Amino acid sequence: MTGTTARATPGKPPRRAPGGFPVVGIIGGGQLARMCAGPAVELGLTLSVLAEAPDASAALVIPSAPVGEHTDVDAVLAFARECDVVTFDHEQVPADVLTALLDAGIPMHPTPDALVFAQDKLAMRERLTALGIPCPRWTAAHTAVDVEAFGAEVGWPIVAKTPRGGYDGKGVRVIDSAAELTDWLERAAAEDSPLLLEEKVGFSRELAVLLARSPSGQAAAWPVVETVQTDSICTEVIAPAADLDPDLAARATEAGLRIAGELGVTGVLAVELFELPGGEFVVNELAMRPHNSGHWSMDGAITGQFEQHLRAVLDLPLGSPKPRHRWTVMGNILGGEHPELYPAYRHVMARDPEIKAHLYGKGVRPGRKIGHVNVSGDDLADLRERARHAADYIEGAITE
Ligand code: ADP
Repeated sequence: MTGTTARATPGKPPRRAPGGFPVVGIIGGGQLARMCAGPAVELGLTLSVLAEAPDASAALVIPSAPVGEHTDVDAVLAFARECDVVTFDHEQVPADVLTALLDAGIPMHPTPDALVFAQDKLAMRERLTALGIPCPRWTAAHTAVDVEAFGAEVGWPIVAKTPRGGYDGKGVRVIDSAAELTDWLERAAAEDSPLLLEEKVGFSRELAVLLARSPSGQAAAWPVVETVQTDSICTEVIAPAADLDPDLAARATEAGLRIAGELGVTGVLAVELFELPGGEFVVNELAMRPHNSGHWSMDGAITGQFEQHLRAVLDLPLGSPKPRHRWTVMGNILGGEHPELYPAYRHVMARDPEIKAHLYGKGVRPGRKIGHVNVSGDDLADLRERARHAADYIEGAITE
C-alpha cells in the first residue's frame, strides 16, 4: 500500500445480483458512466464506478461508487478487483495504470493497445495514415522552425493540437505563425513530446461514425450523423446526417469498421470526420467510449449506445443499431447563468410532450455540458427548432 491509497474511500462494494450477472466497472464518474446506469438496470447488471468525488455525475446514481483518482494505481487496482470487466468514462487513464491492470489480469475494454490511439492524437495520425485512412495533412512539430516549415508547405492558418488531454477544443489552436505557439512549444520541449500540426481543413460539415465492436469481433454501426459545433463544443446532432451521399456514408462506415478491426477496438468507437466539398472525407479524431455524437441513440435507435457499450464489453451479442424514426435531433444543454434547472421542466414538458430530457446531475458552470434533449419525427426543421428551444429553455438562455 502506498500513501496515495489513503485518498481512495472504499464506498459500498458492488453487490452482485442473483442469477450470475456480472459487475461492470467504469473508471471515471462523468455523464457517460452515469448514462450506462439505465440500461444496466434493465439488463440486471451491476455497475461500479471509480468516481472523482462522492457527488460526481455517475456517483449520484450508482450505489457502488468508491472515490479515487484514475491516476492512482492502488486505488484503480483495488476498484478493478471487485469487477468482472473494466471500461472507461474518459481517455485519461495513464499508461502505467493500464499496465498495472493488464499485469493483474483484469479484463479491460478497450484494451490499452487500442486505447492509445484515442489518447494520443499523434499516435492516431501515424496509425491511420499507415492504414491508408484519409486524414488532414499533418506533421509532428518540435520547434518553431518545424511550425514555420509546415505552415509554408500547407498554407496558413494551420491547426495546432496538444496530442494528449484535450477535449471540447481545449488543446486546439488555429494559428497564423509559429509565434502564436511559443508557450506550447516551450512546454513540448520541456516534456520532450512534439505537438501535432494539421492543415486547416475547409470542411462543409462535421460527421461522425459511431459503432460498437465486441471482443469476438462482431460490430454494429449506427447511421452516420452530423455533429454541429459551437465554439468547438458539440451543440447539436442530426441523425442521420441530412442529404448525405449514400456512397460517402458507406465509405465512411467502412472506414470506421476497418479502424475498429485493425486497432482491435472493443466497446463503442466514435470516428469524427470532416466532410469535404466533392464527396470526400478525412478523419478528425477517435473516441473509444460512448460519445456525444451517439446520445441521440438513447431514444432514436433500437439499441442505444450505452446499452451497446455494456453488451460489447461483456462480449454479448450486439443489439440492432437501427433508427426507430426518420430523424432524431439531439440538442446539448450547456451550463448558463442559471443554477436552477428543474423549474424549467414544467414549461418544456408541457410545451412538447415528445421531448426526452437527459440531465447529468452536474453543477452549472458556463459552457459545461450538463444534459441533452432528444426529439424524433419526420420534419427535420421542426425537430431542430424544438430541440433547440427545449435545450435553451432548460439552460435558461430563453424564458418563453
Ligand atoms: P477535441 O479533442 O478538443 O474535441 P478536435 O481535434 O476534435 O479537439 O478539434 C475540435 C474542433 O476544432 C473540431 O470539431 C473542428 O471544428 C476544429 N478542427 C480540429 N481540427 C481541425 C482541422 N485540421 N481543420 C479544421 N478544423 C479543425
